[in-house]
Amino acid sequence: MFKSTANNNLLTTQVEILFKAAPAGGLSNIFSVWLIFALVYNTQHHTSALLLGIAVSFLTTIRTFFTNNYLKNKNLDLNKYLAVYFVITLAIGVAWGLFCLRQAYHDDEAIRNMIFLINFGLIAGGIPILSVWLPAYLVYVLPQSIAIFFVFIHLDYEDHYFIALTFFIFMTVMIASSFNVNTRRKHEIELTYHNDQLINELNDEIHVRQKVQTELEDNKRQLEKKVEERTRDLMVINSNLEKVIDKKEKAEQSLQYLAYHDELTGLPNRNLLIDRINHSIEAASRNKQQLGILFLDLDRFKAINDSLGHVIGDKLIIEVTKRLLATLRKEDTISRNGGDEFVVVIERMLNIDEAIGIGQKLIGILNRIFDIDSHRMHIGASIGISIYPNDGSSALELLRNADTAMFNAKKAGGNRLQFYDESMSNRLHERLLIESELHTALSENEFHLVYQPQVNCLTGETVGFEALLRWNNPNLGFVGPDQFVPILEETGLIHDVGKWVVKKVTNMLSSGLTGKAAIAINLSALQCGDVAFVEFIQQEITKANINPAKMEFEITESLLINDYEKTERFLNKLHSTGCPITLDDFGTGYTSMNYLTRLPIDCIKVDKSFIRNIDSNPTLENIVKAIVNLSTSLGIKNVFEGVETTAELNIIQKLKGLIIQGYLYSKPLNENEINNWLTREDGVNIQYLEQVSKTS
Ligand code: C2E
Ligand code: CA
Ligand code: CA
Repeated sequence: MFKSTANNNLLTTQVEILFKAAPAGGLSNIFSVWLIFALVYNTQHHTSALLLGIAVSFLTTIRTFFTNNYLKNKNLDLNKYLAVYFVITLAIGVAWGLFCLRQAYHDDEAIRNMIFLINFGLIAGGIPILSVWLPAYLVYVLPQSIAIFFVFIHLDYEDHYFIALTFFIFMTVMIASSFNVNTRRKHEIELTYHNDQLINELNDEIHVRQKVQTELEDNKRQLEKKVEERTRDLMVINSNLEKVIDKKEKAEQSLQYLAYHDELTGLPNRNLLIDRINHSIEAASRNKQQLGILFLDLDRFKAINDSLGHVIGDKLIIEVTKRLLATLRKEDTISRNGGDEFVVVIERMLNIDEAIGIGQKLIGILNRIFDIDSHRMHIGASIGISIYPNDGSSALELLRNADTAMFNAKKAGGNRLQFYDESMSNRLHERLLIESELHTALSENEFHLVYQPQVNCLTGETVGFEALLRWNNPNLGFVGPDQFVPILEETGLIHDVGKWVVKKVTNMLSSGLTGKAAIAINLSALQCGDVAFVEFIQQEITKANINPAKMEFEITESLLINDYEKTERFLNKLHSTGCPITLDDFGTGYTSMNYLTRLPIDCIKVDKSFIRNIDSNPTLENIVKAIVNLSTSLGIKNVFEGVETTAELNIIQKLKGLIIQGYLYSKPLNENEINNWLTREDGVNIQYLEQVSKTS
């Protein structure tokens, strides 16, 4: 199919080239024929030349007309036009042939040769114009050449055969050239056609690609648009979803809050309480600590609720909650169990005295009158206490046991504390007893002081005494200061007792019984916040006219932690009276070094725990060495407390320690033992010590 189309196209192109050249071919024929006419005008050939001129002019004009017609109207029948062209060209060729034949009779050789030369020119010139379609060339040149050849053969020249042969060769070359030109032209046409086809194909390809590209771009644009729309949709959906989630979270939060809190008071409810207790149990078991559960029930709430209505009842519960919150520490958990029941969880409890202290405080504040809507009421509370790990290992067990204890407290008349564990209740009982006895201890003259010597271990000289409080109660017998001093502090009795101690020591100093030695008084944290107490001390010193340097005061680091600024003011005031200040139990606190430089401290007392076994523990020895170095570099004295053996003494001496307070020298002494002690013969009177320890 391609081939036949190619052939058609080839012929069409050949014809186009041929037809386009028709006017040029026609013109060269017309010029040639009229030139010949001019040449032979004066000979007998002028008639035949005129005929030829007319014939050739006519034929070429018609041929030009035909070819032009074809070229202008593309859709005409090619074969028909080609046939007409063939015939006209043949006619032109024959006309020329006939005219050439006529030259056989020419008498002017020069003119004949001129005519033939013009013919040769036409034959040669026809090649580029006609050989694009071979039949055209052949019908044009063959009649002329045959006629010329015929004329040459019949010439009566000697070498006419040679001339004819030369012409034959010329013709052969011309025809061969026309074949050659024809082949080349066709090849060119084919190449051109092929190139056109290639270009067309390429153009098609480019076109297709451009189309595809455009489509792709369109698709891309549409896709982008869709993505944009989709993103917008998604953003809207997302923000809606966020709103929904937010709402849900808020709802969940409020549900969660309701699930874990008491609506009336906002306190944690039983669910959250159990959760917290379980957490606290984990922490306590990890850190080997105790946990106290206080189960609190109001004593007369039911009666008030029944008689005054639940609106008043609710208000009362809210008031109770306020008082409880104001009393407890931040770290304690308080929850409402429902009704008039509350539970307090005391974490990191040091000892059960702490639970007792808090329990009694709570009972105290709930015992005070409530004023609600002009109703004055007195309710009171009963508290049951259970202790982890002693009274249970789970929240439920601890709560149940605290509840039982609370029930027992109610049964015993209410408005009291009760431990679940019997022995603890005994302890509580004992404590309550101590407390009630302490209230009258001062007025009943049950306190006295003992004095423990502080000795220069090089000279054996007694440089001071520490005044230590003793309590002898007719009902309880002898009670140790470790037991009753904390209760004095909790009840606030320490203020009066503290003043009594100062008075006692002033008397002692002015009596001269202790000689040149100073006397140290222990202060508790509560006293160190009270500036009036310093004024009292000042007055006593002035009244008795004693040297303030003889009255020393011992404070512990723990009191500095509570309210540093207040304590600092107190100490500066105290120090300004001329009384030296000692930091007691040194090393057991945390920031001792800091305090040493900032507070008016004259002396540190190295704690017993560093001295105990110092002879067999190099670490302790190093610590004490560092403490000694520090105090000497700060110009602060040091005292070593609790020295019991000569081995301990030897180490302290090695470390350049000077002042010793300990059983090795002396236990605390009664007033009447002091004189004996001061007038003893040797520095270290061990026998005396043994004697004293037997009697005290
Ligand atoms: P503290 O101030 O650390 O008193 C030293 C305690 O160590 C005294 O116990 C003393 O007897 C004891 N001690 C002295 N040398 C030795 C020894 O070699 N070995 C042993 N094992 N112990 C020794 P005490 O008299 O029972 O006093 C206990 C605590 O009671 C005192 O500790 C002090 O904090 C407090 N205290 C005593 N009297 C008063 C006072 O009048 N007011 C205040 N606020 N607290 C006082
Ligand atoms: Ca002390
Ligand atoms: Ca001490």
